[in-house]
Amino acid sequence: MAYTAFNDDALGFTTRQLHAGYDPAEHHMSKTAPIYMNASFELGDFDRGIRLFSFAEEGSSYGRYSNPTNEVLERRIVSLEGGGAAVAMASGMAVITNIFLNLAASGDEIVAPRTLYGGSLTLLTKILPQYGIKGVFAADEDDAASYDAAITDKTKAVFVESLGNPNSNVADIERLAEAAHRRGLPLIVDNTFATPYLLRPFEYGADIVCYSATKYLGGHGTLIAGIGVDKGGFDWLNGRYPQFEKFYEDNREYIPENELKRFMFSKRLRMTYLCDLGAHMSPITAFGVLQGLETLSLRMERHVYNARKLSEFLSSHPAVTEVCYPGLQSSPYFALSEKYFPKGPGAIISFRLKGGIAAAKRVIENVRLFDFMVNVGDARSLIVHAATSTHFGQPVSVQEAAGVFEDTLRISVGIEDIEDLITDLDRALRA
Ligand SMILES: *Cc1c(COP(=O)(O)O)cnc(C)c1O
Repeated sequence: MAYTAFNDDALGFTTRQLHAGYDPAEHHMSKTAPIYMNASFELGDFDRGIRLFSFAEEGSSYGRYSNPTNEVLERRIVSLEGGGAAVAMASGMAVITNIFLNLAASGDEIVAPRTLYGGSLTLLTKILPQYGIKGVFAADEDDAASYDAAITDKTKAVFVESLGNPNSNVADIERLAEAAHRRGLPLIVDNTFATPYLLRPFEYGADIVCYSATKYLGGHGTLIAGIGVDKGGFDWLNGRYPQFEKFYEDNREYIPENELKRFMFSKRLRMTYLCDLGAHMSPITAFGVLQGLETLSLRMERHVYNARKLSEFLSSHPAVTEVCYPGLQSSPYFALSEKYFPKGPGAIISFRLKGGIAAAKRVIENVRLFDFMVNVGDARSLIVHAATSTHFGQPVSVQEAAGVFEDTLRISVGIEDIEDLITDLDRALRA
């Protein structure tokens, strides 16, 4: 009997989340991926050393470049995502930062909506501009034509979140991919809130997908991690990217032409940015993410079930004035949600209260089951007041453009018994 489940992509998602990308026969028959605690690896013979350092051969040479535990995680994500290659990094922000650096240099622009995760927004509005890379924002984040209007000769990519933060606005990935491709640009999707179980952006034309694995992929609030996934096949030699032209010339002697062209984005992300800026993922973290992934589909089913119930409960509650959850028929994103999220549009709900900031404070101080934490995607339910935490210090106009008001609370719905969640929230809302 030969074990082949590790490389059979015809298997179902839940089967692959347990088996894909890991062959025990290569690891002393250890049934779980071992944690390889090594700063550096034997190069073997002289010629193998050359192959490893020219990246002609995949394998580990120095721990900052790659690690066998991380490689298992990368292969598993590639299988779940239906992508081509992945790079694990220290955090979601490390992945997003390095993706932008891989695409853009001084003078270049990235087009995005304003409804972004706070760290990504800061990166595009404050940090990268210091290095000459500018975030340019679509005037209407729900309209593909608005992204098109923001694209110039200096644009290097369009970046969106499949489910935005904090109001879970749904990106029309198919339209956005068309708009980007028409101008010779890749579409990058931060799919953190959705996970590959609920949505696989490559199927709708996205070129690069990134995750904060800190959230649902890890799933238990125990680690900080990020992963970038390259679909493969984008034409990086289309005249917009001098850095990729140089990379191609520098490496075509060592790396087979087909593979180099196909995965130029992820190869350059690893060889230039992971290797030399050093945002590497610890193999202990990779092990933790792999463990989380084993139950991803099961957790997401329960997250979504609970989110649907809780959003309906909030919609009919007298203390609540508005609920943002794309699964609600009243949501302006309901039609997009039905198209992109047949299994359910994630489990992040934001809602507004009667009674302003005082009411928000009262709810936070009266919940007993919800954790007051800024994280999302934990197995536990979390609640946060965005205006004084994730969006703290931003001008009110910026907060409100992102859908954050003084009476807005955001919930990351966990996998607890729904009756307990409703009872706890109801009591806090009536306090
Ligand atoms: C948390 C988060 C990030 C940043 O990830 P870290 O792992 O915390 O660095 C990026 N995008 C989204 C949508 C997130 O929720």
